[in-house]
Amino acid sequence: MTSSQERPTELLEPQPPAVLPPWHTSEREALQQQARRFATDEVLPVANELDPQKGLLPESLLARMAELGYFGITVPAEHGGMGLGVFEYCMVSEELARAWMSSASILARSQGLGTAVADATRREELLRRSAKGEWIGAIALSEPDAGSDLAGVSTRAVLDGDEWVVTGHKRWCGNAEAADFIQVLVRERDPEPGESRSKGLVNLLLEKERGSFPSGLTGTPIDKIGYHGFLTWDLVFDDVRIPRANVVDEAAASDEQGEAAKRAGFAAAQEFLNTARVHTAARAVGLARAALEDSVVYLQEREQFGHPIGDFQALRFAVAEMASQIEQSRAFYRQVAHLIDLGVRCEREASMVKLEATEMAVRVTNQAMQLHGGNGYTTERQVERHWRDARLTTILEGTSEIQKRIISDRMLPRSPLT
Ligand SMILES: Cc1cc2nc3c(=O)[nH]c(=O)nc-3n(C[C@H](O)[C@H](O)[C@H](O)COP(=O)(O)OP(=O)(O)OC[C@H]3O[C@@H](n4cnc5c(N)ncnc54)[C@H](O)[C@@H]3O)c2cc1C
Repeated sequence: MTSSQERPTELLEPQPPAVLPPWHTSEREALQQQARRFATDEVLPVANELDPQKGLLPESLLARMAELGYFGITVPAEHGGMGLGVFEYCMVSEELARAWMSSASILARSQGLGTAVADATRREELLRRSAKGEWIGAIALSEPDAGSDLAGVSTRAVLDGDEWVVTGHKRWCGNAEAADFIQVLVRERDPEPGESRSKGLVNLLLEKERGSFPSGLTGTPIDKIGYHGFLTWDLVFDDVRIPRANVVDEAAASDEQGEAAKRAGFAAAQEFLNTARVHTAARAVGLARAALEDSVVYLQEREQFGHPIGDFQALRFAVAEMASQIEQSRAFYRQVAHLIDLGVRCEREASMVKLEATEMAVRVTNQAMQLHGGNGYTTERQVERHWRDARLTTILEGTSEIQKRIISDRMLPRSPLT
């Protein structure tokens, strides 16, 4: 019998492919290696300690991520960011999610989010803060009665002089209390007859102090089964006042009056969701990898019938299938991220990769739990964390069913009423 110490561990390291993919560069490889070291040495121990207590991402960890430039990966270099693309953003996020999903998720609340205001000087200041991790936000799209059906958002914004007055109920807003701002999708008018239901939706920027809620806003944390590291909030807006100029959409930058911005509200939320979906795919790959890597260790440690269980062919084949599925999803998310960076409109592909990678992560983490036997169903092993967190990925940023709807709607015409 071979002891676990003598058994090979090289499976834990990625094998260099025989032919490098076209998007491989030495800079990207260096960035990935740095992120992997950081995730392994600094994020994983914190996650292992804090996740079981439903703890939050510590300030010291956020400060280190800021130091490494991770909050500004996609912020242009002239505004203080790394000036890189969605590709690198997703690559780093995969590494972070391998350690703790929320550490990758917090990156999605910076990267220039909440900076597309009309005033150029203000925009520049916010971009610089975003790149430094000093402008980290929260996104309030969903409502109790508007989840998959975002066009059904009913939170109201009414103009009163130079301010919007916002009233309504948002649900599932991650990081709301700890944020510097909340980007809120609101309805400023009802659609005209014949207009799409999404007309009249606009994104507003609610600036706030970290660690509290402004006057009129009440937050209640939702007790989740996973995705610890930051809190997810139920938010009630009761006459919350937001300056009129705080319309945040791509179009706001070029339209002083904000009219184009208003028209772009729903489209901007959709655009945001495209990148978010590829980012979720990358996080899902990170979670699946975590489950696989933990399994490879466990299969060598655990012995039954006088053998490490990793000697049993059924379990070896499971490892092979898990690894193959992860590689497939990784190649796919990198391809879609690359397309986004090229400026290609790829809504369908963003949905496809979100669907495939997140369903893969659920399968792989579930398989990993099976490979761990009874020990997998305890809080003593990390595989349960990967499984809990992966389970969420098929739900947020559009459920798997909604991704299938988006994909099929772009392939197969149907009557508008179904
Ligand atoms: C932990 C967590 C964090 C989140 N963070 C945020 C956040 O920070 N900001 C934010 O705005 N939102 C956030 N969300 C909300 C998330 O995006 C929604 O939960 C998701 O879009 C699904 O909406 P819902 O929960 O209302 O489900 P529903 O829309 O009620 O769906 C219920 C079921 O019906 C199915 N379904 C609905 N419509 C259709 C259809 N037309 N065809 C087929 N099936 C359909 C769905 O797929 C699902 O299976 C978060 C959610 C969770 C759980």
